[in-house]
Amino acid sequence: MTIERFAVFGHPITHSLSPHIYKAFAEQTGIAMEYTAIDAPAPDFPALLERFAAEGGRGVNLTLPLKEIAFGLCSRTGPRAQFAKAVNTLKCEDDGWYGDNTDGSGLIRDLTGRQLLDLRGRRTLLLGAGGAAHGIAPVLLDAGVLELVIVNRTPARADALMDALGDPARAHSRYWDDLDSQGDFELIINATSAGRGEGVEFDLPLGLCNRMTLAVDLNYGEAAIPFLAWARSAECRNVVDGLGMLVEQAADSFELWHGVRPETDPVYDILRQHNALLVTVD
Ligand code: NAP
Repeated sequence: MTIERFAVFGHPITHSLSPHIYKAFAEQTGIAMEYTAIDAPAPDFPALLERFAAEGGRGVNLTLPLKEIAFGLCSRTGPRAQFAKAVNTLKCEDDGWYGDNTDGSGLIRDLTGRQLLDLRGRRTLLLGAGGAAHGIAPVLLDAGVLELVIVNRTPARADALMDALGDPARAHSRYWDDLDSQGDFELIINATSAGRGEGVEFDLPLGLCNRMTLAVDLNYGEAAIPFLAWARSAECRNVVDGLGMLVEQAADSFELWHGVRPETDPVYDILRQHNALLVTVD
């Protein structure tokens, strides 16, 4: 039996949970696959990807800082990737790599399917305008949020994301420094990588939250602690980290490669036992 090769590329990559997730999916579905983590600084990535394909690599996941570079290396991309101009999944096809972006679908599956939260009608604040924010913003609009206010450290990127969404009635960009005057939100999503830094604190106005607010950090583990600590201090009703999204977006990738969707709950439960318990949902 041939064992097909898959890998996650990123830099840094040593702490990636992806090999554990895909090992569990493979065991559960009886699909023989090898899945490794490959450290790839951005300048080295194109050559490393080419070598991986030449050695029989069938599929790839991408994490920071490679999603946009990988998009440029695809011969074909799906609509979600075309909007985000970033891919987190590659599938080897006859004419090269097919690229997709499963971040948005992974987030929605976790929030609505696992946490049983209804996103419809929520006034929503999106912090960040990088690759992940581009992946989730259109999906949030599709999920029926009332309004999407985008704020980013570099304002031009928030403006660009708003323009790309093409929904002026619902999607707006605002300055981070003007958050005080934006009122309150029923959904606040941290799609920044700020929490990965040393000694970071989220110093956001407490008035952004109301008694219904769901606070979501796309990060998990230590990187999620600063934002979720702020969310708890602001007495948000629900607080969710990005661990469930990680498992769901991986399941979407697995399905793209193998045509089979694995059960995510057992894998999520095991990872949750080993991660800080950062989820509180009524
Ligand atoms: P990215 O493309 O590099 O974008 C980073 C974003 O964070 C940008 O908006 C950037 O603002 C902002 N940022 C960075 N440092 C900041 C700081 N000190 N203060 C304020 N804003 C800051 O990264 P990404 O792919 O969007 O990923 C964002 C985060 O989401 C990462 O930590 C990643 O691990 C996480 N993520 C999780 C999942 C999951 O499955 N759970 C999936 C995707 C991403 P500027 O534009 O001003 O630089």
